[in-house]
Amino acid sequence: MEVTVIGAGLAGSEAALQLSKRGIKVKLYEMRPKKTTGAHVTEKFAEFVCSNSLGAADCTNASGLLKKEMQILGGELINIAFETSVPAGGALAIDRELFSQRVTDRINSDENITVIREEITEIPKEGVIIVASGPLTSEKLADDIKIFTKKEHLHFFDAIAPIVEVESINFDKAFIASRYDKGEASYINCPMNKEEYEKFYNILINAPKIELKEFEKDAKFFESCLPIEVLASRGVDTLRFGPMKPVGLIDKRTGEKNYAVVQLRQDNSAKTLYNLVGFQTNLKWGAQKELLHSIPGLENATIARYGVMHRNTFINSPQLLEPTLQTRTRKGLFFAGQITGTEGYTESIASGLLAGINAAKYVNNEELLDLPKETMLGALTHYITDSVQEKFQPINSNWGLVPPVELPKKEKKNKKLKAELISKRSIEILNKMTVF
Ligand SMILES: Cc1cc2nc3c(=O)[nH]c(=O)nc-3n(C[C@H](O)[C@H](O)[C@H](O)COP(=O)(O)OP(=O)(O)OC[C@H]3O[C@@H](n4cnc5c(N)ncnc54)[C@H](O)[C@@H]3O)c2cc1C
Repeated sequence: MEVTVIGAGLAGSEAALQLSKRGIKVKLYEMRPKKTTGAHVTEKFAEFVCSNSLGAADCTNASGLLKKEMQILGGELINIAFETSVPAGGALAIDRELFSQRVTDRINSDENITVIREEITEIPKEGVIIVASGPLTSEKLADDIKIFTKKEHLHFFDAIAPIVEVESINFDKAFIASRYDKGEASYINCPMNKEEYEKFYNILINAPKIELKEFEKDAKFFESCLPIEVLASRGVDTLRFGPMKPVGLIDKRTGEKNYAVVQLRQDNSAKTLYNLVGFQTNLKWGAQKELLHSIPGLENATIARYGVMHRNTFINSPQLLEPTLQTRTRKGLFFAGQITGTEGYTESIASGLLAGINAAKYVNNEELLDLPKETMLGALTHYITDSVQEKFQPINSNWGLVPPVELPKKEKKNKKLKAELISKRSIEILNKMTVF
């Protein structure tokens, strides 16, 4: 029996490779380049649409644990991510071109996977299916999913940060450093004094935004991916305690402490492009230019890509899905990726991995994998499929999802120890499992 995977994004690509690895034939449908999503810019598979960072790399962070778990579970894309990584302090950031090229090559050369460059407009009525069409699922398919789920879709908004050309940055003002000198010094930092920050802030709060369409007016944002103008509207200092926090970033040339700092992260291995960290925005392009040019060091910056905002669609997973990522009413139908209500690149790849493993098990009449809540991936899937939730909102990996660990009395507030113990517990559980 073959499996149909809809969408060759992060989740769909991972799922297809997992199925193939288990000897199962896959039909992988991808609508690009015939039809685009508005955010993707290439026709390659597993394209990173915004930042090039998958978040923290090590297990003292929830996202780092998720990465480790994927490696234990035999994830394919996570290994390609490490192979194509670029320096980013404690984070795993990738060369987006190289990454998606490698994934595309792997899939195209896989004998078990047939790629069909077409839009799927309806969930196929029969067979084993993985819907991994992402937050920007085409309208026709989204309408059909709505019929299947008998519920309104939920949606919120994501925004993309601008990217600038490194050549155009003024290094008389900008300096290279990682926060607290962690890892290789790889971020470009644009420091601001109080006066410069206030000028920047005034431009920002008065800047015109792109008008939302009628159906977008009740915009809900994902809290950890808020547009910079929304953060700024919460108070003059919100940015200085958020993406523009200056702590741990000192220009060694001057030794001076800064009032605020704009950080730029390497975006490609050629080191020609850098994205502005936390600067996702829906400002009009002219306003973005004015704002960026008010930042010391970026006075003449050439903007390679402007920030934009997009609708993000997800299903009501608590009412619809099992922790195996099967739908409750049709066991051969799986959902994976951001459309399930997990948020983030790492999370999308991880759910593609689980859906791929489970669709293979389903085809082979084996018991499906329901990961324990003590693992980060298990905790995430249990969270999004917990029917007790009333107002479901997307979620990314975090320590609050997993059952607590016992800490010695004196260490109750030791967050690092807590993270280490949770990670150790999860890794031990997964290493003991022989179900893959
Ligand atoms: C604008 C935006 C910015 C984001 N920025 C970040 C970020 O900076 N960091 C982060 O961690 N996460 C970010 N996310 C969230 C999320 O991690 C990414 O969207 C991620 O790519 C989701 O993976 P996915 O596999 O679910 O979907 P995708 O990677 O989008 O893959 C879905 C694929 O399905 C295809 N498709 C859609 N409909 C059909 C159809 N009907 N038939 C055939 N093919 C179809 C699409 O073309 C696409 O290739 C962002 C999301 C959006 C929308």
